[in-house]
Amino acid sequence: MIPYGRHDITQADLNAVIDVLKSDYLTQGPVLGRFEDAISTYTSSKHAVSVNSATSALHLACVALELGPGDILWTSPITFVASANCGVYCGANIDFVDIDPDTFNICPESLKEKFEQAAKDERLPKVLIPVHMCGQSPNMKLISDLAKHYGVKIIEDASHAIGSKYLDKPVGNCAYSDITVFSFHPVKIITTAEGGVATTNDSVLAEKMRLYRSHGITRNPNLMVGRSDGLWYYQQIELGWNYRMTDIQAALGLSQMVRLDAYIARRHELAHRYNRALYDLELSTPVQCKESYSSFHLYVVLLKNPEIHHRVFEDLRNNGIGVNLHYIPVHLQPFYQKFGFSVGDFPKSENYYSRAISLPLFPTMTKQQQDEVISQLVALLA
Ligand SMILES: *Cc1c(COP(=O)(O)O)cnc(C)c1O
Repeated sequence: MIPYGRHDITQADLNAVIDVLKSDYLTQGPVLGRFEDAISTYTSSKHAVSVNSATSALHLACVALELGPGDILWTSPITFVASANCGVYCGANIDFVDIDPDTFNICPESLKEKFEQAAKDERLPKVLIPVHMCGQSPNMKLISDLAKHYGVKIIEDASHAIGSKYLDKPVGNCAYSDITVFSFHPVKIITTAEGGVATTNDSVLAEKMRLYRSHGITRNPNLMVGRSDGLWYYQQIELGWNYRMTDIQAALGLSQMVRLDAYIARRHELAHRYNRALYDLELSTPVQCKESYSSFHLYVVLLKNPEIHHRVFEDLRNNGIGVNLHYIPVHLQPFYQKFGFSVGDFPKSENYYSRAISLPLFPTMTKQQQDEVISQLVALLA
């Protein structure tokens, strides 16, 4: 089976991990700080807070922005469930903004209309989570202007998008958001096995996320109630979690960072090859906006005819092509249907779901593997 995504581990990665395993600190050691520094330098953000997953990073971001019971969080229906679950963890109510059918990102027009209606109904969200679907940045300038106008905070779910650019600047610089979140799960652009990071330019938000990722415990006397009781002393001042990344993971991530730009260049090469080979089939290839340089985490094609979607998908799988579907609209998940969502609520997202197929794409994919995917698709659709 040619998988839809695959990690790449080199001898340098192995050496970096082994060095940590032989060192004094497996976790809470010096490599973690170096990884965080590398991320903030790469993304031109002031702070990077590493955690054990992007899901944890989304949760901490919501907590830092003081999302709570009775508040509302909006995100896209076409995302992994974690982009919505982080709001539920905080007791917030979730709602969705339908997608732009070309980019699969939140549609700025739908967002504008939804904001106008929500302002009238006094049901404005506290937090908006635009998703960088497939690695392509949404129209963050417009989204951020609208959010500022209505006093709404923004967390970018850039789980797909480390190494992407928007208006020639790195995604993660938080020029149009409060916090940006990346994932280092093995199918993503670079990996720490499990892991994630939140970037921000706001030192208060960064400090809060650091506090909450480690039980709500501080060793900083300035944050304590009363005086420190001695060198051993720490205080728990909030209820946090253990969301820490290990130094073993950070070493892997730091080593992978060296190849990040090369990975993305390779993904672009493969994407262009797909574009050229598939353009006259009964499907649409990914639309790229001028403002965005995508990481091409995913290469999603949309079949023109939804009636053959199941058959084409199954035939590809049966013939050794590990296609996938990103994503089942979140509002159609049984857990979210309990909140009253139903079929028809977000028609563009549902239409996308009836036609989308993620084709295999990963940096170590060979020309032969890609040719195999292409010839199978041609045989099914030509
Ligand atoms: C992968 C992913 C997540 C969750 O990432 P983890 O690191 O596995 O927790 C969240 N949002 C999106 C859009 C993702 O693709």
